Amino acid sequence: FPPSESSSVLDGSSSDTNTMTTDSTTTGITIPHLSPTTLANLVDYTISFSAANGLQVQQKSERSATSTSSSYITAPISLLPQAYPHGQFQHGLALSTPFNLLVDRISRNGKFLQETLKGVRDVDEFTGMLLTLYEAIYLSDGHSSEQHAKGADRLGILRSDYMLHCSQAANNEYSIKQVELNTIASSFAGLASSVAKLHGFLTRRLGEEGLQEFLDVNERAVMGDSSDGIVDGDGERGVPQSLAMIRLPAAMAVAYDRYCARFNIGSSSNNDNNNGEHKSDAAVIKPVILFVVQPNETNTVDQRLLEFALWDNHEIPVVRMSLGEIHERVTLDEASGRLTIQNDDQGDNCGAVQEVVVVYFRAGYAPTDYPSGYNTADGSGIEWLARERLERGSAAKCPNLGYHLAGTKKVQQELARRGAVEQFFEGDEADVAAQIRTAFAGLYSLGADANEEDMEAVKDVLFNDAKGQYVLKPQREGGGYNYYGENLANKLKENCTITVDDDGNNDVTLSPDLSEFILMERLFPPQQRAILLRNGQVEGTGMSISELGCFGAIVSSGDGEVVHNEYAGFLLRTKFSGVDEGGVASGFATLSSPYLC
Ligand code: ADP
Ligand code: MG
Ligand code: MG
Repeated sequence: FPPSESSSVLDGSSSDTNTMTTDSTTTGITIPHLSPTTLANLVDYTISFSAANGLQVQQKSERSATSTSSSYITAPISLLPQAYPHGQFQHGLALSTPFNLLVDRISRNGKFLQETLKGVRDVDEFTGMLLTLYEAIYLSDGHSSEQHAKGADRLGILRSDYMLHCSQAANNEYSIKQVELNTIASSFAGLASSVAKLHGFLTRRLGEEGLQEFLDVNERAVMGDSSDGIVDGDGERGVPQSLAMIRLPAAMAVAYDRYCARFNIGSSSNNDNNNGEHKSDAAVIKPVILFVVQPNETNTVDQRLLEFALWDNHEIPVVRMSLGEIHERVTLDEASGRLTIQNDDQGDNCGAVQEVVVVYFRAGYAPTDYPSGYNTADGSGIEWLARERLERGSAAKCPNLGYHLAGTKKVQQELARRGAVEQFFEGDEADVAAQIRTAFAGLYSLGADANEEDMEAVKDVLFNDAKGQYVLKPQREGGGYNYYGENLANKLKENCTITVDDDGNNDVTLSPDLSEFILMERLFPPQQRAILLRNGQVEGTGMSISELGCFGAIVSSGDGEVVHNEYAGFLLRTKFSGVDEGGVASGFATLSSPYLC
């Protein structure tokens, strides 16, 4: 495919293609290749579909203690799907199971994690804390609670994110390059499934009624004259449907059932047989999956879709709690490894306990999720104490500390080093590593381990004015933390010393403060027109770029047997080309779908 018309729009400057042109239609926006009537229809269908199907986010509000009502609003979405090359979409899907395996293997390699993250831990307290807990629990051989954690199943719900990028190495064609791999709180599986339904409906319902030209223009912008050869009617062209709401609950159910079978609890058929380790005499309440959530979460519908699917498909109940509440109400029995929720109900279940068999983190990935701080020794860091308690139990963690650490940006950078990903797939599996490596972009260390190639990238920014070709990333999750363009160049300049050697060459020494960052090659996906809707209103139209997320689900046992590993759905996020950052919840991107062509 040819590179898109203009990549320069990407360079941080706000794009003037996003402006709204006023006219007399209800939306007040004129969109090329789309009549005002079709646009009005689109908006009407979209808002109604969203209400009818819960394609919504919760509104930030000061809820009063007496009111239980909440208001919901249409999620930030792209009104139409974005053209996407079918072959690259399939490539992303195919990489899900290899990346799942990779994360599982990294999570069990303490040496690799310690070596890779040793420079980060000194400057980034958050990653340092995760690593310290990991070492205390998984790399020591002492107490029973460590044995419970080590013996527990691991549940991975991962999302590998990609951008199409055109490189000489790939014959100047677009291929997917990994932006990052999320191993904790990978979100939007639920809402993205709903968006794919919406976009499937809209393109079929309005295709003949004024939509086709708009879609065709975008297809040409992305594909040039070369389509992947899909033609109408072979079942592949158009908007694919996501399997996420089937496959993610299915993976969680695998972990749930394995725990119940192992400890002989839960399912009614097991009730006669009373010699299980975890059998309690109290009235049997079904064991639960604990969703660890942020107190002020607005992306609740996405989480609830998963909760309802768990019940519908598997009759598995979910309980939602914040780390603060968990600290108050979830106890760990050191001898058995049982995690239980104390019920303070006054009703029938008074005094009864609920066993937590799977812990699913939708919080805990950011320092702000631990507002009481890092001091666990004096008991004040209650959120970290809660995290540690959960980790020490026999329940399957999604993710456990090893999986969480495997998703750090520093690990991503280290894996791109020659031979690094290959060490996890030796012998017969060498082709798996090769397959994974096809998706790596240029990744460079800024730590004490920086080599010549890394320093060349730094010098490229400092002396060749190549700041637009890189992104500077700290070890954070959730969007909004990266440095681009001028900010990137300044951050590097402020944190290095430049000296001139005898031959007149520039020598650069990096400050240790940079070791928590990685430098990454900037990706330039093809641009196409999008119409974005935010806060229930058309925000504007303009050229856009997209990021594909592929979900993977894996369940493995304490001793490393992989019992479940599959691709588990997709997500496409679209933002205006002039916007550097990503993230839907953080207000940069919108949810969309691929229109395969
Ligand atoms: P986070 O964990 O905060 O989501 P990401 O690595 O995904 O961190 O970066 C956030 C956003 O920044 C991405 O969604 C993407 O829009 C943009 N971004 C990150 N890396 C690159 C890159 N190499 N090239 C272009 N854009 C990038
Ligand atoms: Mg992330
Ligand atoms: Mg991201």
